Amino acid sequence: MGQTTIQIEKAISLKEKPDVSTVKFGTVFTDYMFSSNYTPEHGWEEPAILPYQNLEISPAANGIHYGQSVFEGLKAYKNGDDVLLFRPDENFKRLNTSLERLAMPKINEEVSLNALYELIKLERDWVPEGPGQSLYIRPFVFADEAFLGVRSARTYQYNIILSPVAGYYGGQLDPTAIYVEDDFVRAVRGGVGDIKCAGNYAASILAQQKAAEMGYEQVLWLDGVEQKYVEEVGSMNIFFVRDNELITPKLNGSILSGITRKSLIELAEYKGYTVKEERIHIDELQAGLKDGSVTEIFGSGTAAVISPVGRMRIHGEDYVVNDNQVGPVAEDLYTHYTGIQYGHLDDPFGWIVRV
Ligand SMILES: *Cc1c(COP(=O)(O)O)cnc(C)c1O
Repeated sequence: MGQTTIQIEKAISLKEKPDVSTVKFGTVFTDYMFSSNYTPEHGWEEPAILPYQNLEISPAANGIHYGQSVFEGLKAYKNGDDVLLFRPDENFKRLNTSLERLAMPKINEEVSLNALYELIKLERDWVPEGPGQSLYIRPFVFADEAFLGVRSARTYQYNIILSPVAGYYGGQLDPTAIYVEDDFVRAVRGGVGDIKCAGNYAASILAQQKAAEMGYEQVLWLDGVEQKYVEEVGSMNIFFVRDNELITPKLNGSILSGITRKSLIELAEYKGYTVKEERIHIDELQAGLKDGSVTEIFGSGTAAVISPVGRMRIHGEDYVVNDNQVGPVAEDLYTHYTGIQYGHLDDPFGWIVRV
């Protein structure tokens, strides 16, 4: 494969580019999008690049009613005349894992990668170059067969849209407050917590709202069975620094396997940190915060890269983490990791693709 030529339908006029530093995350989209449709007769049709536009779907589209809908998220970074992508192959691989779990047809990873490179080349002027800024890339697939019945749909749409985004914290790290959720659960083993499907987010919104009303920005989820073991933050994985070692919950089938998580583990080990993947009891974490052995907590994900936690509410008690300051480990990993992403530092791992 790899030699598919992609059709490009030119836009009649181009949009004015915004001042990205004032743009709210995920609200502005570029001039073009990737599009491919699936039918059982032809599989995924030849992909095309089209002017960004509304989709046409039936009100009976299966994906709306029964939730066959999955997505990915990655970013493109500007480095001089080049645009850099970070491990894009991992995202398409994970998209296929998600598709498989929801009994949806798999996409061709190589065709997708090449189509993405073409799309990014066409839209290179949309990749912002301010500190912490990037072009957020959102591939997604959903069922669009007009049929109200519960079975795998026959037809699907696959699109990729692009959105210029400012750094979560304007390129600066800023500690957040996290609420440990004791009532609701996000996922259970054997369910779909380990894939990026739309329904996981729908299930998390009420808890997120409750936390926000109490003054917390994010929810930390515990396991869905015993509600004792730390899982993740819903759009981020989580790391702890305890006695100078980095600890993160071991993947167990209900935690999403973050590409940032995996890459941070590799980078940290490369830099000489000891990293442990463990099952972490929430009471153990609470004790570690009380006795001072847990010195830092941070989330990891594509959107924010690293998000330090300054305050955490566990079983109704508030704990301040590292004086509500950005800790040295978070700072060190953030600087090195984003340095690789923007092409300012060496990439000994081969993570970067230059477009
Ligand atoms: C996307 C996502 C993450 C982070 O994954 P990255 O690949 O690092 O962006 C973590 N948790 C959930 C539930 C997610 O959907």
